Amino acid sequence: MSSMKNINKNTSKPGNEEAAELNASSEDLGRGAGDLQSPAAACSQANPYSDGAVSTVSSSEIAKKAEAAPEKHKSVYHRKGFGLKDEVEVELKKEYESDLVAELRASGNVISRNGMTIKLAEAFGFCWGVDRAVSMAYETRKHFPDRRIWITNEIIHNPVVNANLREMGIEFLGVKSDGSKDFSCIGRGDVVILPAFGASVEEMRIIEGRNCEIVDTTCPWVSRVWNRVVKYAAGFEHGYTAIIHGKPNHEETVATASRAHCYLIVRNIEEAGLVASYILSGIDGAGGDREAFMKRFQDAVSPGFDPDVHLQSIGIANQTTMLKGETEQIGKLFEKTMLQKYGPLSIDKHFISPGDTICDATQERQDAMLKLVDEKLDLMLVIGGFNSSNTGHLQEIAEKSNLPSYHIDGPDCIGPGNQIRFKPLDGDVCQSKSDFLPAGQVTIGLTAGASTPDQLVAQVLEKLFLIRSSQ
Ligand code: SF4
Repeated sequence: MSSMKNINKNTSKPGNEEAAELNASSEDLGRGAGDLQSPAAACSQANPYSDGAVSTVSSSEIAKKAEAAPEKHKSVYHRKGFGLKDEVEVELKKEYESDLVAELRASGNVISRNGMTIKLAEAFGFCWGVDRAVSMAYETRKHFPDRRIWITNEIIHNPVVNANLREMGIEFLGVKSDGSKDFSCIGRGDVVILPAFGASVEEMRIIEGRNCEIVDTTCPWVSRVWNRVVKYAAGFEHGYTAIIHGKPNHEETVATASRAHCYLIVRNIEEAGLVASYILSGIDGAGGDREAFMKRFQDAVSPGFDPDVHLQSIGIANQTTMLKGETEQIGKLFEKTMLQKYGPLSIDKHFISPGDTICDATQERQDAMLKLVDEKLDLMLVIGGFNSSNTGHLQEIAEKSNLPSYHIDGPDCIGPGNQIRFKPLDGDVCQSKSDFLPAGQVTIGLTAGASTPDQLVAQVLEKLFLIRSSQ
């Protein structure tokens, strides 16, 4: 898929130095999954009253710990492709790239036809991590042509890519009646692909015990967040509770939380505000409603979580695809809160936040979107899977700028005729709108999430041209 990278100047991969750090953490944490303590056990041992600063246990120490117990890791691990990049590149190019979009990128990201101007964001579409994960999945099929191959989740949040994997005979794990994944189908020698979002420690333990081949496509930007929360926990006498800005049910946040010794997930600044209020008024029994707090966050905390104990020392982390502005606001809010509660002299014992963990691709796409909404536009189209977090946040930026904007997952959302089917920002049920494309001169902004192939963007453009030609 190297040609995709050449064409898509917006893909962003870690720089050399950072890549080394990220890859190290990915490797260490993936292998060490079976050795990490479960949140329940950890929370019960955590001592947030301790005076110690955060311990800086290194990823290599975690790896050494894993190496010391090789019998726990019966499966074979693959964290890179199989040297078949050139072989799969032709297929990937055919299925996901577009000459039209490549030309647009090369000529300023603007196209005008029949009184309709479409301005594409400066950064949109497949990111480096998605590019890598999809390429590894295709290589896996080629490398194991006769093996049964499973994937634990959607590889990325894009329906077309996932459907293509199914067509290649890559099977998705079934779901049991209680909603949990059914790992019993994985047999000895089967191949299991872990998606770009990674897998939880619990899932890793199960899979590692099934004597299979594991192909880990976890994006290194994601494992960087894991590394962060593991460090918060290091040494249970000095642990900081990980406050994770993310979506409690998102695969990436589930995987991150599973690596934290103790965690609380906040979805947004509003929930962060509730936690901050509890820290100021609830801890020490000063008036917070503990019961109401636990009810609100019951699905977003580690087992054994006690707000009066575990909110005394906190460290901040976030899902890689959250809205950067909101993540920064949350970090500042907690810093201010802990300063107010504990004072500047002991702040280091109670608060740590070495910067946000938004990935570069998310940031580039959000920055480009903020620039695009400043232009004179009549409406905005945001293309991406309906369960794609980074796409949802692009849509949020559009809505905040008061533009008529539509989150669609591909060309099938447009038509018949001048009609659009879109997902509202705060709803799960799609809505339809007739005559969404105004007649006369019109300027449309267009962007796509990090899991959207260029071909879908091109097909949406073609649908727009078609409507315009009949107006
Ligand atoms: S959006 Fe970021 S974290 Fe997710 S796959 Fe892309 S580069 Fe990795």
